[in-house]
Amino acid sequence: TFKAILVSRDENKNQSVEVRDMAVDDLMEGDTVVSVEATTVNYKDGLAITGRSPVVRRWPMVPGIDLAGTVESSTHPDWKPGDKVILNGWGTGETHYGAYAGKSRVRGDWLIALPESMSPTDAMAVGTAGYTAMLSIMALERHGITPERGPVAVSGASGGVGSVAVSILARLGYHVIASTGRTAEADYLTGLGAAEIIDRAELSEPGRPLGKERWAAAIDSVGSHTLANLLAQTQYGGAVTACGLAQGADLPATVMPFILRGVSLLGIDSVMAPKPLREEAWSRIARNLDTAKLASLSSVIGFDDIIDSANAILDGKIRGRVVVDMSK
Ligand code: NAP
Repeated sequence: TFKAILVSRDENKNQSVEVRDMAVDDLMEGDTVVSVEATTVNYKDGLAITGRSPVVRRWPMVPGIDLAGTVESSTHPDWKPGDKVILNGWGTGETHYGAYAGKSRVRGDWLIALPESMSPTDAMAVGTAGYTAMLSIMALERHGITPERGPVAVSGASGGVGSVAVSILARLGYHVIASTGRTAEADYLTGLGAAEIIDRAELSEPGRPLGKERWAAAIDSVGSHTLANLLAQTQYGGAVTACGLAQGADLPATVMPFILRGVSLLGIDSVMAPKPLREEAWSRIARNLDTAKLASLSSVIGFDDIIDSANAILDGKIRGRVVVDMSK
């Protein structure tokens, strides 16, 4: 048997969470059993464990949307015992038992090979948050954004998506403007490569339909007024990726940036992203993310600390990324 976190609901829809012993036979159907060596705590995992927002769509559920580990057994043609793999999304931790268990039984189609230069804990320091940051950067590149076009703003900069976005953009030569509510973390953000730090209060309040053109592009994991203001201050022909809702799911914006400046809003989804895009994102991460930076933006916890971290991430108390080392 192995330990697993299980979230359940009673008949009044009150949610509870417990740690219990499970066996492989208790897991959901799949063609591949993976021994989970590392996982992480994303914002969405915080929502699933606490029930603060409806993320879980099948009850009970083992939460955890990200894992890295070793294939134990598989009938899938791509995988054999001993293969090192990563899984991000595909409904794990939402509709399919996820990562917060010693083992996970999943569809081999959902897995991708762990890049050779990375350990399972490195991959989880990146996790869905970091892979979403890379998807955002790739979307900006497809739009023609380059460092020569001008600065790139990153909102929620000390969060998971934000920290990885800042690091990779800086490594690629961009002038990064990091927006954060934690201006005390300025040293952390400049250490990751941010060239300028702005207070998120500048962006989080209702603003004008069009403002001064401050950046060529932006990566937003915050939504609401922040996304509206990022759009309103994007240069002619620029682009903004929408990948999160830490401030809110609303978008109180006008069409002005789109129709007067040709600004584009690019949607980013990591959960159902097709496999070739995932493979490209992970190989770019392996090439473009400095391991020293990765270490400085992540902290390591053990399985027993997951529930506390889930609460902390929703309270905005986690800096960068949290790695769960299952051997701890
Ligand atoms: P996180 O580590 O908690 O980062 C979110 C950051 O947003 C916080 O660190 C904080 O940064 C900022 N923030 C929090 N509350 C805010 C508020 N009320 N107003 C303005 N800023 C606020 O979470 P994460 O794991 O990086 O995820 C970030 C968001 O992206 C979440 O909404 C998540 O669901 C979403 N996401 C989406 C995808 C996708 O597929 N589209 C994938 C991954 C994540 P500062 O302290 O620096 O201000």
